Amino acid sequence: MRTRVAFFDMVEGTTNVTVFMKRGTKKHLSPDCIFCKIARGELKSQIIKEDDQAVAFRDINSQAPTHILIIPKKHIPTLAAASQQEGDLLGHLLLMARQIASDEKLESGYRVVINNGVGAGQSVFHIHLHLLGGRVFTWPPG
Ligand code: 5GP
Ligand code: ZN
Repeated sequence: MRTRVAFFDMVEGTTNVTVFMKRGTKKHLSPDCIFCKIARGELKSQIIKEDDQAVAFRDINSQAPTHILIIPKKHIPTLAAASQQEGDLLGHLLLMARQIASDEKLESGYRVVINNGVGAGQSVFHIHLHLLGGRVFTWPPG
């Protein structure tokens, strides 16, 4: 028998729902989160790469000739909110960024950015890596 128990909590203005579907399986969903919607295919995006754990798609407001976002399918609001158990998943996102940089032939260099929190300019509270390339970047960033 399938049991459904959902509980709700608020993280950075987003309602999170953890649904226990069958014994031992758990899905992390966030119904209002645009990146969860992209990951579920409910919101259109230009998907570059996808596997069981992550999705990469082009940023709607490119800040460089190549600007790709890499997100986990699991809803994690910020880097600060990620747990020790999510270390492999975070590593997976980085390796996906590296693979895409190679596929996109960003030979002269590229930048991988995570904005953590409002003060750092984070506007979508579903953790994501920005992969930027195809132009010269200055340091420090603005
Ligand atoms: P943040 O500011 O949180 O680090 O980055 C969020 C990024 O998501 C921004 O660069 C923004 O342009 C991008 N973005 C926001 N909404 C959408 C969307 O609906 N589709 C796509 N492809 N990118 C989005
Ligand atoms: Zn989400």
